[in-house]
Amino acid sequence: MRELRKNEIYKRCMMKRKRVIRVKDPRLRKIRLGLRTLLVRESIARLLEILGKKGSLLKFPDLSEEEFHKKYQILYKQEIANRKQLDASICVCPVCGDFEKDHIFNPVDRVWYCEKCYEILKKSYIADGDVGAFP
Ligand SMILES: [Zn+2]
Repeated sequence: MRELRKNEIYKRCMMKRKRVIRVKDPRLRKIRLGLRTLLVRESIARLLEILGKKGSLLKFPDLSEEEFHKKYQILYKQEIANRKQLDASICVCPVCGDFEKDHIFNPVDRVWYCEKCYEILKKSYIADGDVGAFP
């Protein structure tokens, strides 16, 4: 229990800083790409399943309005949670959808971006006067 708490504190401290994960070895890059591809495909498959269930709700006119909304809300929450998990993961840049390049963690919005998008966003926020959004 005590060890678990130490690990939790360590993780939180580590994720408060800007981090860049660079992989230079081509073999490791290939492995990383394979893992990211698997995770993204699984996430998209789950998302399509949820969207399919949402669509199929419309095919049951026997559902009362209350039942429909209850089931729709459950599926909607699952859809949002799925999208948030993918956006928050290191697998995909939420701006351009890249899942091959090295990514940077922004501790302010707690999102991983590819280096190119991170720099573009950083310049954009600085130009708008917000220097703290992208450290
Ligand atoms: Zn990007």
